Order: sequence, then structure tokens, then C-alpha cells
Amino acid sequence: MIEIDEDLCKGCKICTDFCPKEVFETSDKINKKGYYPPIPVREDECIGCRFCELLCPEFAIAVVNE
Ligand code: SF4
Ligand code: SF4
Repeated sequence: MIEIDEDLCKGCKICTDFCPKEVFETSDKINKKGYYPPIPVREDECIGCRFCELLCPEFAIAVVNE
């Protein structure tokens, strides 16, 4: 399960670009900082590698084992 704190996101798209399963797409709605956060649109494809969590410079993503 992927938890995103949208308002921490600064829209760098590292998570979107580096996810090996292309889980994320970019939202068309801005967050409180004026950036477009990711949405985990293919969460069922996630392999739990945690690249997104580890690479996010704003610590906005948490990958939680269910
Ligand atoms: S844990 Fe890995 S596969 Fe899952 S969303 Fe993050 S980068 Fe993608
Ligand atoms: S890596 Fe973090 S800051 Fe960058 S777009 Fe993804 S959630 Fe936002």
C-alpha cells in the first residue's frame, strides 16, 4: 500500500520516473504548495521495492506492507 502526503510533494516526478512498474501518474490538481503530486494509479502493479519512498526528497511517500 502506498501512502502519499500530497502536501509535502514538490512535484519533482522522481517517483513517477523511477518506479520500475510505472505505478504513478501525475495529478491534474495542485497541492497546497502549488505542485502536482503523483497518484498511484496502478498500485496493484507495485512490487514493494520502495524506490519511490527512498528517492523522494520530501519524504512524502511511505510504502506500507499490508
Ligand atoms: S514500491 Fe517500487 S514498484 Fe511500488 S510504487 Fe514504489 S517504486 Fe513503484
Ligand atoms: S518524489 Fe516526492 S516530491 Fe517528487 S514528485 Fe514524487 S512524491 Fe513528489
